[in-house]
Amino acid sequence: MFDNHVHCHEFPREELEGYVKEWTLACVSDDLQSSRKTLELEGVIKCLGIHPWQVEKAEPGDLEAVLRLIERSEAPCIGEVGLDRRFVPHSFDKQREYFRAFLKLARELDLVVNVHAPDAWTDAVEELRRADVDRALIHWYTGPLDLLETIRDLGYYISINPAVTIQKKHQEAAKAADRRIVLVESDGPYEYRGMRLTPPAILKTVEKLAELWDAAEDHVREVVETNAKRLWRRS
Ligand SMILES: [Zn+2]
Repeated sequence: MFDNHVHCHEFPREELEGYVKEWTLACVSDDLQSSRKTLELEGVIKCLGIHPWQVEKAEPGDLEAVLRLIERSEAPCIGEVGLDRRFVPHSFDKQREYFRAFLKLARELDLVVNVHAPDAWTDAVEELRRADVDRALIHWYTGPLDLLETIRDLGYYISINPAVTIQKKHQEAAKAADRRIVLVESDGPYEYRGMRLTPPAILKTVEKLAELWDAAEDHVREVVETNAKRLWRRS
């Protein structure tokens, strides 16, 4: 199965190797250094970028360096990039400058964008639309339900995290979204209210989606896998 958003560079090597055997991992990066680490991984989908939380700390030249790294690599994806008004609202202007630069390149090179957008859901979707980005995934979606239709109409996706087992807003989004835009992710290795998020935790997401959709787990798996293959252009 696909894990469409995971910070592979943060796992101990052996643990990651175990996951690579069983999962198709879309590995996101946080900054210049982790983008370089992601590039060295084998057998994964590589996403390079600068996370909105890291934008503030980025050195002059880091943005340019990551953009050049993306151009020179054959990475099919940019991420984790985006906008965040919830946790780091003070750096919003600089976040937007970075996000726009990444989106421009995504458009030019026809790359997937792996997006982080807490409380900047509408801003992020609007930026994607304005930049005419073709393929995007908005991860751990807990945004407004009425934005889901716009996301679908633009051809974008949302991903559902194992936190859906306990997070109400996430459950509502998972239930309201058109099933054709729903993907799954772990965002591992991350700790959410005592849950350790790793690729195998996605099995809990599948279980919860089956309950929310009133469907069989096999059906959920098939739906999210078909969606992921469409996003990543894998047959
Ligand atoms: Zn993440």
